[in-house]
Amino acid sequence: MNMAAVTAIDLTKTYGTGNTRVSALRGVSLAVGTGQFVAIMGPSGSGKSTLLHCLAGLDRPTSGRVRIGNDGLDGLSDGRLTRLRRDAVGFVFQSFNLLPTLSAAENILLPLRLAGRRPDGEWLDRVIDLLGLADRMHHRPNQLSGGQQQRVAVARALITRPSVIFADEPTGNLDSRSGAEVLSLLRASVRELGQTVVMVTHDPRAAGYADRVVFLADGRIVDDATNPTPEGVLERMARLEVQAA
Ligand code: ADP
Repeated sequence: MNMAAVTAIDLTKTYGTGNTRVSALRGVSLAVGTGQFVAIMGPSGSGKSTLLHCLAGLDRPTSGRVRIGNDGLDGLSDGRLTRLRRDAVGFVFQSFNLLPTLSAAENILLPLRLAGRRPDGEWLDRVIDLLGLADRMHHRPNQLSGGQQQRVAVARALITRPSVIFADEPTGNLDSRSGAEVLSLLRASVRELGQTVVMVTHDPRAAGYADRVVFLADGRIVDDATNPTPEGVLERMARLEVQAA
């Protein structure tokens, strides 16, 4: 078995106290192998965003442990957690989150600039080439289509060669054709660059691009499927939605 890029052990997350108390995660354990593409699915309110935020070090679990590569997240100061996120994690958001005044190239290179790291020209070329962005490098985000903006965001996530990329509904703001393109590129980053990707989605077709789908319901993992098909995922989700209702 290859080394895990991300490991979670018995995560719990509780919000609020007394009668406003909500258990968003109730003991989630998960190991994501290096070079694996994992989709996280589940009904609304099942804990997907909470899990993603805890795995990515954006939020702290109430109990349990998270490791990214060889680094444990628990007990890190906010400053060290920020540095670990910057060095070891890439993010792709539903709303792209590009800086509007910067060109595509400047957006892609920003994580390296913030870390005071020099760009590796060969790697930059490879990422730009993979994402088909060579003739868009001097455009600003508002001169790009949604699909192109999300491709820039994927390139920005890849540029630091992170241990893992977390994608939160990466196709949520895209039409189906651009969405399929972005998913194919995430898939290609796994296959060709050995990237590890963890993606939250509610779209069974998006989950069909992953190697593995983890299903959450009510803060727990209730199923874990490899080589998912959109049809199989749709059927599993339909049963979970009925149980949640
Ligand atoms: P999902 O992403 O699957 O829709 P979430 O992780 O957003 O689920 O939410 C899981 C549960 O935790 C829900 O009941 C939600 O209302 C609750 N929750 C999430 N964030 C907060 C918060 N900041 N404060 C209080 N409750 C929250």
